[in-house]
Order: sequence, then C-alpha cells, then structure tokens
Amino acid sequence: MSQKTEKPKKKEEPKVYTYYEIKGDKIIRKLKKCPRCGSFMAQHKGPRPRWTCGGCSYTEYSGIEKTSEHK
Ligand SMILES: [Zn+2]
Repeated sequence: MSQKTEKPKKKEEPKVYTYYEIKGDKIIRKLKKCPRCGSFMAQHKGPRPRWTCGGCSYTEYSGIEKTSEHK
C-alpha cells in the first residue's frame, strides 16, 4: 500500500511591468526603452553588448566605457 500525497505546486507569477532579472545579488535590466520612439529595445550580447530598437533601429552600446577616445 502506498499513498501518494504529492501536490504539485502551481505558482502563477503575475506579470508585472518589471523588466529586471535578478541574478544573485545583481539586477540585470532585461528590457530597455528606446529614447527615440519609446519602443522596447532588444539586448544583444555579442560581439559587443548593445541595445537595439526594433522600431527605429536605434542602437545604444551599454556597459562599455569609453577607453579608446582621443583627448
Ligand atoms: Zn526606437
């Protein structure tokens, strides 16, 4: 005789307007808004981390410090 008392927990996470992903103690921005047209931008990791807008193809590099800049 064996009784199965397993209850699968269904956790429905409400969709909130948060575009952040928490990894450990770091908060990663998942989506960014285009400063031009206001559409959500897609993040590309390679070869350089950048954000591109699907609306107006606006591209913004992120996380890169200007190191190769002439003074
Ligand atoms: Zn745009």
